[in-house]
Amino acid sequence: MRRIKEEAIERMEELVAEAREQMERNRIKTFLARTASEAREIITSLCGSATVIVKGKSLTSEEIDLRDHLEERGYEVYETDLGEFLVELLGIKPMHLLAPAVHLTREEVSRILSQHLSREVPPEVEEEVAAVREFLRDKFTRADVGITGANVIAADTGTILQIENEGNVRLSSSLPPVHITLVGMEKVVPTLSQAMKVAEVTWRYANYTMPAYVSLISSPSKTGDIEKVTTYGAHGPKELYCVFLDNGRSAMARDPRFREALYCLRCGGCLYECPLFCLVAGHFGDRYFGGIGALWTAFVTGGLEEAAPLVYSCLTCGRCKVRCPLEIDTPGMCLQLRHLIAEGAQEPLS
Ligand code: SF4
Repeated sequence: MRRIKEEAIERMEELVAEAREQMERNRIKTFLARTASEAREIITSLCGSATVIVKGKSLTSEEIDLRDHLEERGYEVYETDLGEFLVELLGIKPMHLLAPAVHLTREEVSRILSQHLSREVPPEVEEEVAAVREFLRDKFTRADVGITGANVIAADTGTILQIENEGNVRLSSSLPPVHITLVGMEKVVPTLSQAMKVAEVTWRYANYTMPAYVSLISSPSKTGDIEKVTTYGAHGPKELYCVFLDNGRSAMARDPRFREALYCLRCGGCLYECPLFCLVAGHFGDRYFGGIGALWTAFVTGGLEEAAPLVYSCLTCGRCKVRCPLEIDTPGMCLQLRHLIAEGAQEPLS
């Protein structure tokens, strides 16, 4: 696995170009956003005159504050991952990469849902899930645009791979007439078979034997059933867009001291192992959590100043490295960042 990601990051720019070329052949319109604001502007213009937008959980969209940006422009935006939906209702930040509402009890969820849905939702998990399902089902069918992330992209076939359990990502990517995928450049690997391996390692280290859904999307919905004439927009979206995000990744890839932070699959395995995260959960990080989150904060979201408290909070115990499928040396990189901070560096990259 490490060899796949080493090659992928070494050739990141080239693989993104290859993936884009293949996707364009498959009728997926692609963009490369160098900054968060560029990505926000591209996605806003793609949303155009839409009213309702449904979103699948995506750390990359959190990274660029996409929901706030779209809401400020008047769009009705719904997070559709159940945990993310609850966190959105509370106006707080997610507490875990894969389980954003891990800190809420069923009683708290009942209170939040009863208040938001203006009806009594009993503190029973099944009833709570059913209430959210009913509420969001209407949004899925009314949505003009679905926005999702991707777990991995295969450059040779231009395929977007998505792993999930709830089915909300499938609905977001297949019910609205327009589907937009936002993905970090580091997610591209050379081949479809390597992408499948990355996907399997991701779900296994996320503690799933097998996720409920693994989707492979390689073009907009199409049919050739009438006279073999290929026509787009059969049952799924007629328009499919993929926005690749750089936002510091290509600079990180060029720095041998920190490049391996880009190998991260976001499986969340290291968080279960981190003694500090077990105590404070999502307070050990901002959009990205744990020791690996400290590195992503430094390079991608907040710079050295914002990352400093996280970098110094890391115990450098090394348990995350042992658990990580890529054996990413997060403690070593946190120590490197401490040196930079101590030397008074303003930015992590020289
Ligand atoms: S650092 Fe390793 S264990 Fe942690 S989320 Fe990334 S790939 Fe998973």
